[in-house]
Amino acid sequence: MTTLFASTALLPGGLARDVAIEIEGDRIARVSAGATAASPDERHALIVPGMANLHSHAFQRAMSGLTERKGPAEDSFWSWRAVMYEFALSMTPDDVEAVAAQLYVEMLEAGFTRVGEFHYLHHDRDGMPYANIAEMAERIGAASVETGIGLTLLPVYYAHFGFGPKPPAEGQRRFINDRERFASLMAASRSVVAGVPGARLGVAPHSLRAATLPEIRDVIALPHDGPVHIHVAEQVLEVDECLEATGARPVELLLSSVDVTDRWCLIHATHMSDAELHAMARLGAIAGLCPITEANLGDGIFRAAEFRAAGGQYGVGSDSNVQISLAGELRQLEYSQRLARRVRNVLAAAGGSTGEALLLDAMAGGARALGVAAGIAEGMPADLASLDVSSVEYLPEHSLLDAFVFGSGVSVADVWVAGRKRVSGGRHRDRDAIRKRFEAAMVRLVRR
Ligand code: ZN
Repeated sequence: MTTLFASTALLPGGLARDVAIEIEGDRIARVSAGATAASPDERHALIVPGMANLHSHAFQRAMSGLTERKGPAEDSFWSWRAVMYEFALSMTPDDVEAVAAQLYVEMLEAGFTRVGEFHYLHHDRDGMPYANIAEMAERIGAASVETGIGLTLLPVYYAHFGFGPKPPAEGQRRFINDRERFASLMAASRSVVAGVPGARLGVAPHSLRAATLPEIRDVIALPHDGPVHIHVAEQVLEVDECLEATGARPVELLLSSVDVTDRWCLIHATHMSDAELHAMARLGAIAGLCPITEANLGDGIFRAAEFRAAGGQYGVGSDSNVQISLAGELRQLEYSQRLARRVRNVLAAAGGSTGEALLLDAMAGGARALGVAAGIAEGMPADLASLDVSSVEYLPEHSLLDAFVFGSGVSVADVWVAGRKRVSGGRHRDRDAIRKRFEAAMVRLVRR
């Protein structure tokens, strides 16, 4: 049993003072506010719950910094995707494992304690399955075990290029399965997840572009114990193509054709009509927002204030992994709302801290989207982050979370996953060895 004593902690109901958090094994055994520190307690200034990063494509971390040069024509999501395919085609299982481990170290150091890996780089470079059909999922599992980040593995069903359905392009060959082969992949992924402590297996039809409605109904019925994730309405072109092919908008089509429940997470859901937004909130599907990637790709702005007012829940994810920052995702989300509406403090309650509201909303929505529970409370997983506030000690307590999200001087110091401390003083315990492997892989990939 370990006891962490926090001068301030973010509990499900808000900030509390003098909080003793008792950890037994991988769980929080007891939380007492207004406590007195005992001598063996580990002392911390501010402890917040570990956060879910609900949407990641690990291999795309390798492209960070390589896609910001202007091409001959107007750059868009679709030209970015062409570069992404080229990169995806060159990576070996060893490359993927090295890049994923580096990425997961960065996530842990940012305060993320679980990742939803939306995993679609399945096959060998020629498009043929590896001898072990779940070879790549195995590598993702290995990176999770090595770094200690919690894993919700979301094997992706990807079969078509676009609505129609159009046959897949050559550049997509490593992603593609039919229903039968995908069932084998799911079965093999179950054994991968069984070898990763605390892991969950969900399922992810890639999008309405890449999977037909009957295929979506079939793949979500395959055995799994986690959530269902799907990309939807990320780009205006996707909305237009969906309307042209089916007469309905993407979210409208999905909600009217498939039994979408509160076990679903709709990634992006950027372009929704009022009716779609309210229907999605009513069903309890989580909005999986990836604010930094959505800004980087020029996707558009999710109407978070309207969705929240309609009772909708959201979480955040780092998606293309161009930059890993928990505070950065929350800040970009709030700033996009401010820019669109020309007002301030949009995603908070009247009189409340915006940083605190963003953290609590993203914690609850993110955990639910990854099929787990979260929060600093009895019986919850001991997933925690201690923030270093030593350079802003003059601030009132109720401003510390705002300083973390919007200001400077507050950083993530220590991070525990399932009761084990993986990050100390801002550094992951295996940072140097993992970094070395990553750099060697990147030198090969970039000079290829
Ligand atoms: Zn994505």
